[in-house]
Amino acid sequence: MKITNIERKILTTPLKTPFKTAIRRVDELEELTIAIYTDSGLVGYGAGSNTAILTGETVSTLIAGVDYLKPFIVGRDLEEFNSILELIQTKIKNSTTLKSMFEMALYDIYSKSLNLPLYRFLGGERREFETDITISLNSIDVMVKESQDAIDIGYKILKIKVGEDINRDFERIRVLTQEFPAISFRVDANQAWSPKESISILKRLERENIENIELIEQPVKADDIRGLKFVRDRVAYPILADEAIFSPKDAIELLEMEACDFINIKLAKCGGVKNALLIADIAKLYGVECMMGCMLEGAISLTTALHIVSARADRVTMLDLDSVNLLKFNPVDGGAKFKGSKISLDRELMGLGILGV
Ligand SMILES: [Mg+2]
Repeated sequence: MKITNIERKILTTPLKTPFKTAIRRVDELEELTIAIYTDSGLVGYGAGSNTAILTGETVSTLIAGVDYLKPFIVGRDLEEFNSILELIQTKIKNSTTLKSMFEMALYDIYSKSLNLPLYRFLGGERREFETDITISLNSIDVMVKESQDAIDIGYKILKIKVGEDINRDFERIRVLTQEFPAISFRVDANQAWSPKESISILKRLERENIENIELIEQPVKADDIRGLKFVRDRVAYPILADEAIFSPKDAIELLEMEACDFINIKLAKCGGVKNALLIADIAKLYGVECMMGCMLEGAISLTTALHIVSARADRVTMLDLDSVNLLKFNPVDGGAKFKGSKISLDRELMGLGILGV
């Protein structure tokens, strides 16, 4: 089965409310999707979004990257699946979102050609999962209201964005966790605190006996692995590494140093399906559980992530795959079903299960 063409398309989708973290504000989702065509009639889909501040990639660089890789891929036979994946990983440096888009589309076609949903091609069984939802960084009043709205529609786990000022962050976390004692909180500082600030704020929370904090995500700068370990060694709350870990090699480094309790895997950081699976396998060797996370991205990316969760359900125990729920509407037909906190895969849909964009 030969690859005959690759087409790309820009998708812009408004958000229900602006997405705000310690490092950025986003009002609409900007994505690039690709469709890889074959002479058998099968089509594979992939997507990536603008995450310049995290990966260095924008929709413009993704367009340039797709055009650059296209001549290497068109004309290749899907029977050379691993060679094509290797080519994508080696023909261009970094560009993890770009590589991830291509891997999505190639795994999509390949599992379709075997008449299997991707999760089954990867050996997965589970199809139903529960995700948290992100509460953007805002004033405490707004965050309380948005948390209440999320809880009212069934969310039991909230990921709250902090990282503005440590005293106000302490108040945010204290008020939210005490206001909603039955809810489990994931606190994401997006690198905003220094190691000492992290310890100070987390110790204060410990002294308040706040127990409904499940984890603290990336409190310190991405490249400050020693700082991350310094925090982890001194506080009781588990530490989740996010921006600090892109590649499987990063995962080994962090786990060898015992710098974190959990790893957040994202396709756009690790460069695709293969590395996501590899990171989960590495984490298993070290006895560490993973979160499957997402950038602000659309249904094609999130659906791929969910297939990976199913394939590594013993290791990926936490889901942060909420960004489709933050959109005013979902422009993608098919894929995972998003119903509030519940996300599921369809056993009748082959490949990723995307029907059209
Ligand atoms: Mg994060």
